[in-house]
Amino acid sequence: MNPSYLLFDVGGTDIKSALSDNEGNLSDIRRVPTRRGTPNPAEALVDQLHTLGTELIAGSTLATPESVGLLVCGIVDEDKGLGVFSANLGWRDAPLRHMTSEAFSLPVGFGHDVSMAGAAELHFGAGATLGSKVNNAVMLVIGTGIAAALFVDGHAVSAGGYAGELGHAAVPGGLKCPCGAHGCLETIGSAGAIAKRYSAASGTQVRGAREVLEAMHAGDPVAKRIWDEAIEAIAFSIAQLCASIAPETIIIGGGLAQAGEALLEPLRRSVRSKLSYHREPLIVPAQLGEDAGLRGAFLKAQEARA
Ligand SMILES: [Zn+2]
Repeated sequence: MNPSYLLFDVGGTDIKSALSDNEGNLSDIRRVPTRRGTPNPAEALVDQLHTLGTELIAGSTLATPESVGLLVCGIVDEDKGLGVFSANLGWRDAPLRHMTSEAFSLPVGFGHDVSMAGAAELHFGAGATLGSKVNNAVMLVIGTGIAAALFVDGHAVSAGGYAGELGHAAVPGGLKCPCGAHGCLETIGSAGAIAKRYSAASGTQVRGAREVLEAMHAGDPVAKRIWDEAIEAIAFSIAQLCASIAPETIIIGGGLAQAGEALLEPLRRSVRSKLSYHREPLIVPAQLGEDAGLRGAFLKAQEARA
């Protein structure tokens, strides 16, 4: 029988779980809320993973999994197998790889959700469709916040889990950020910030950036200003990346990417206006959608088995 893998993608709001075959085809994808507010968040998580995994395996026709792929949010030390810190879920220096391996008596491939979603996009998604191997790329996930996965000369840049925090680097016009710093990109360029800033400026409460985009298309000048400022801020950060690590490709994912060319076309223009001799990156949409994390967990699980 073909080998199978048990996969988890743990975010601040929900846990996605699935089984996969040896090619990374996902089956039995489930999504449940992440248990929060428990006194021992790491134990509570592994407990929840064990329950989910046991149910998945019991209900599946695939072979018993050979390994587990586990991705978590926050600051992640992939080499040491540690969840270093998660503001949302509350653990500090939790040996999540070891704990999960003990719970399932299986090897566990462990990684960061955004980094591995980026790796999956390069392997299966946007990167794969570019035809040639992309060695220098950035995956930018723009949703409630902004996070990035960086690939330089063919390697994922992790830096003990501290690399890629692009959402918390200052941009012109940036505002005070809940992280404690001032001017962070995500205070102006995230989908969350677009909705929040439009609600404050217009007096009309909106639930998401999609409504701001609709208002802009309907001719609302406030919506246009907020949207333009977000794009300008994201373009600023991309231009900094062009000068520092010179990505050939920028893959845009997350909720805001659903705006498609309404986001990408002005973003490309704004980035171009900030570059001179720099290498201009291709700016393309992510292709794997919300399964990118699980596909990344598959890559980790395969690594752990080998
Ligand atoms: Zn910040």
